[in-house]
Formats: sequence, C-alpha cells, structure tokens
Amino acid sequence: MGPTVDQRLIDIATSAVYSELVQLRRAIHRYPELAGDEGETAALVAGRLRGAGLDVRTGVGGHGVVAVLHGTEPGPVIAYRADMDAVRDDELFDSDIRSRVAGAAHLCGHDIHTAIAVGVAETLGTLRDRLQGSIAFLFQPAEETLTGARAMIADGVLDDMPPAEIYAIHCGPTPVGNICVSPGVGQPGQDGFHVDITGPDAVARAHEIRAAVLELATLPPIHELDQDVLTAITEPGGPFARFVVAWSWIESTPDDGARVSAMFRAWPEERYPELRQHSVDIVTKVCGADMAERVAFWGEPFPAMVCDANLSEQAGEYFGSVLGQENITVLHGFYPYNGDDFALFLDRIPGAMFYLGVSNESTGQLGLPHAPQFSADESAIGIGTRAVAGWLSARLSALKAFPAGGRGS
Ligand SMILES: [Zn+2]
Repeated sequence: MGPTVDQRLIDIATSAVYSELVQLRRAIHRYPELAGDEGETAALVAGRLRGAGLDVRTGVGGHGVVAVLHGTEPGPVIAYRADMDAVRDDELFDSDIRSRVAGAAHLCGHDIHTAIAVGVAETLGTLRDRLQGSIAFLFQPAEETLTGARAMIADGVLDDMPPAEIYAIHCGPTPVGNICVSPGVGQPGQDGFHVDITGPDAVARAHEIRAAVLELATLPPIHELDQDVLTAITEPGGPFARFVVAWSWIESTPDDGARVSAMFRAWPEERYPELRQHSVDIVTKVCGADMAERVAFWGEPFPAMVCDANLSEQAGEYFGSVLGQENITVLHGFYPYNGDDFALFLDRIPGAMFYLGVSNESTGQLGLPHAPQFSADESAIGIGTRAVAGWLSARLSALKAFPAGGRGS
C-alpha cells in the first residue's frame, strides 16, 4: 500500500469539525424530509460542501448532490454514498431534537449518514495536499422508495468520473463504537407477484395459494432484532447464510374475486428465479394451468446487495486498527430487513456497505432502523467520520500503487 494520510491527522481534523457536524445532524433531524422532498437537506449539504472547497452539483437524480474532492496529487477516483431521506412515520424517542414534522422522522439514521459524509468531505478537504486522487461524494435522495440510486445512476453519476470503488455506511443496532462488515454478503433483494382469482370459490382458492406460498419460507419474518438473530448472523453457515422469507396477503377485487399478493426476500439472490417457478406451480396446482400466465411478477427482482468479500475484510482490519479489533464484527449472513438501493451501485462497482453501531444501553438508545423508538448515539458521527475518512484515503493510496484492483498490501 502506498503512503496514506496518517490516521492521527484525520482524527485531529475530524475533532475540529465534530461539533458542527452534530449541529448539522440535529438541523436535519428536526426537519426530516421524505423521499423526493429533500430540497432543504440537499441545500444544507451543498452549502457545507461548497464551503469546504468541493466541486458541487445539485439536482442530480432529483434532489441528489454530487460533490467532488480533488486531492492535490492526481490519482484514482472512488465514490462514497450517503442517503438523505426520512421514514414516513412518527418518532417515539423523546428528546429536544425530536422531529417537528408530523409523519416524517429520521428512523433509519440517514441524517447520521449525511452528517458523516459531510464530515468525511470536510476532514479530507483539509488534508487534500496529502490526498492522491479524487473522491466523489454522492448524496442520494429517495432511498426509502428504492428509486434514488437508480435516478442518480441514470443521471450519469458513475459515467462522468467512473469510480474504481464505492462505499457507504448504514446505522446498525450494535453498540456505538462497533462497526460490522459483511464480506460477500449484504442485504437481500426482494421479489413478488400478484394474481387475481375469479369465480365462485375465488376467496377459498386465494387462501389456499397464500398458505402454500408461506410454506416456501425457511425463516419467519423478523419483527424484533433480538440477541439470537444478532448471534446467528455472525455464524458462518448459520440460518441466515441461506434463507427465504415470505409474506402474502389477500384483497378483494370489485368482481367478488380475490387478489393474492406475495413478497419474498431470499439469499442468495439466485433463489429468486426458483421462487418464481414455485409460485407459478402453486397457482397452477390450485387454479389450473391456464392461470399460470396470469401470475404478475414484479418487473425484475430487486437485486441483493453483495459487498465485495476482499474489500470488506480489508476494511474490517482497517477499522480495527482505528477502533480496536474487538470492536469489529464480521457478519456471515444478513437478516431479512428492508433492502437498500445501494445494491444498484454495488451491482456496477466493487465496494461495500459498512454497519455503524449507534445503540447505547446506558442512554436507552436503540439503533434498530425503522423502529419507531429508533435513536442514535451522536458520538457515532465522529467515529464514522474518522473511520471512513481513513479508509477512503487508504484506498486511494492502494489503488494508485496497484491500479489493477488495488488489492496489494
Ligand atoms: Zn436506511
């Protein structure tokens, strides 16, 4: 690996901007904006990044912001993505920064992700004379609707300065100070279908289909992330190394018929074609062969997020050198939670998502994304900024030294 920006310099630069990052995060947290409506958040972000001397472009794929930091020395390009939108729900955790907007709250920690990305840009901005190459910061809108990444890619964010690698973090429920990496695994994609049944026994047949679809599951849907689940996903070959989770529901249709819908999350994603075949077989068995073509699948299964095995492992070691190896958790499976459209970036560019612990038992904060009581320990902002800034600068140096893959050590 080539010369890198010293982690101690990064830590010092991060402490200098830390309290302003917390203020930024609080401003975004108090006035959360839903997918497609991130105008104020984007303006705040763009203002900060212009102030830090980055090249800033707004209105990318909606309210997306792209900001490029050029190191003084030429070199490779890598990308870092943060999502900005809030969850359509109310916040239960009581604090003086609680959401002022009814029906919108940062229950997925995207305010933390945004603050950290600004922090990394500001931290490395002050050290650009030691940076070899460029970092494109992608502030993405509309993650919750799984549409923002697609829109930014369609708007050319990966074409103008094609990045060699791309990274992101997401808040997770482990204790603050911990980071999880997931070599070769990540959040499952999803797929689904509906089929409309007509005729006198439509409802009974719909129930029969629903029951058979639910039988395809190897795991029940998880509503609470308890210690058993957290332990299971850290076990190689555990129950989450291969799974199918299925949901199915029935609605009545105007002609006294019934619509059966189903959704699957599975790992690995090669199981989706198999699940489509099983679904058609079930409908055929219950309703006859002529119903097979009436099974309406989603256009394409939403892709799984597959974190690069090698880069995730290396990142885990790097983060261990910053935070202590005992604070790094390696995941060997992933719980069937909401997907993340960072998957669409990882479909095109090698890289990884990391999971930043934000829970703190002593303050009663539980960082379980999308739970109404979600709350993040703000010190995670400084920890995430230091770790990510160090990792990105290390990757630029490695890619410069070994352009073909940059995986030398
Ligand atoms: Zn999220």
